Amino acid sequence: MPDVKLAVRNDVLGKRRALSTESRKQKSQAIVDSLIELSLFKDAMTIATYLPLTSEVDLSRLLRLAHRSKCLVAPRTLPNFEMSFNRVTSIDTLEAGFGGVQQPTKAADLVSPCAIDLFLVPLAACDRQGNRLGFGKGYYDRALADAPGYKLGIGFHCQLLEHVPFDAYDVPMNGFLSEEGLIQF
Ligand code: ADP
Ligand code: MG
Repeated sequence: MPDVKLAVRNDVLGKRRALSTESRKQKSQAIVDSLIELSLFKDAMTIATYLPLTSEVDLSRLLRLAHRSKCLVAPRTLPNFEMSFNRVTSIDTLEAGFGGVQQPTKAADLVSPCAIDLFLVPLAACDRQGNRLGFGKGYYDRALADAPGYKLGIGFHCQLLEHVPFDAYDVPMNGFLSEEGLIQF
């Protein structure tokens, strides 16, 4: 299975990289604009976001828009491909973590995955059944394994496929949001 996943991952990430910086910026803006209007966002108190790496959908504007009205948390990478979720109170309190990705500091309050109402989940690809392909380390499969919150995959429309290869340990998404809008599974 790893080879099949790798081929699909590389193919979709190639399509994502082919989008211009300006196009990614506009689509990211549209995604944040529609996200904040969703009832599943409005109804959630504690929300896990992420800080973008390379060509990912950039949700960082959310930190400015919602850090007063919501409890926002973001992942911190730990050894053994595990993650914790820590409170983010402002974009200024972040530090550079593994691979240069921005993350909350060690001192930031730890929030249990069980207490998170909505997870905004970055991905390489997602299919119309909610199967998610990540970046190959299984970070989110481990972190979300027992988490009851709503799992919303975030990506550009070009990352939505008919079928994505998956294994028993892959945690499926409940919805997918792109610049073309929300799909729920
Ligand atoms: P990704 O979801 O990032 O695309 P994979 O699904 O290929 O990555 O998983 C990467 C590795 O993580 C696999 O070797 C898998 O065995 C391991 N893994 C996934 N979920 C778990 C888990 N809940 N516990 C332990 N290992 C896991
Ligand atoms: Mg996986």
